[in-house]
Amino acid sequence: MRVVGLTGGIGSGKSTVAELFVRHGAALVDTDEIAHAISASGGIGAQAIAHAFGADFLDATGAIDRAKLRALVFGNDAARAQLNGVLHPLIRQEAMRRLAALPATAPYAILAVPLLFETNAYADVMWRALVVDCPEAMQIARVKARNQLDDATIRRIMEAQLPRQARLAQADDVIVNDGDLAQLADNVKKLHEIYAQAYE
Ligand code: ADP
Repeated sequence: MRVVGLTGGIGSGKSTVAELFVRHGAALVDTDEIAHAISASGGIGAQAIAHAFGADFLDATGAIDRAKLRALVFGNDAARAQLNGVLHPLIRQEAMRRLAALPATAPYAILAVPLLFETNAYADVMWRALVVDCPEAMQIARVKARNQLDDATIRRIMEAQLPRQARLAQADDVIVNDGDLAQLADNVKKLHEIYAQAYE
């Protein structure tokens, strides 16, 4: 299976792009979705967090208490590294399992990873690295409209991600998402045709 790693800063349009590729028949493995799934009650992530940080970090349902963990790792690099050390290998393991289980009929798979280059966890399976890019002011405006977060919070999230130019420097392919949704759909279609053709 040819795996296209899909990344981009928060609000760049990754989820929208992933969905557009799926409409063309691409398979999708979404590590954000995996993170949520393993963090739910009974998930291997929830179990691992209870083991590493204590059962206090689970909520009443047994799911990971994200707010509490966020508060713990905020400004605490050692705790953040420990958290990532617990969760990232589990996310990767599940992503690899899902990729291996994809039907061979899919022309290629999109592997959506917000911190693709930051974690460098998928270099060994990636065929192409695709970056969704837009100006930072646009990222902020989109996230604000979507999540009602304030500028400072969005800036903080962006600062934990690679700077735009560093991300672009590692891309094999780039989708510039600075126009409307019709333009975005058009760009995805063009790239889909290239990816699907390379497969034939
Ligand atoms: P990401 O997954 O990278 O955080 P999303 O795909 O969720 O980004 O996009 C962020 C928000 O911006 C969403 O609400 C989405 O609908 C909107 N959006 C993305 N691209 C466009 C676009 N080209 N035109 C208008 N809205 C867009």
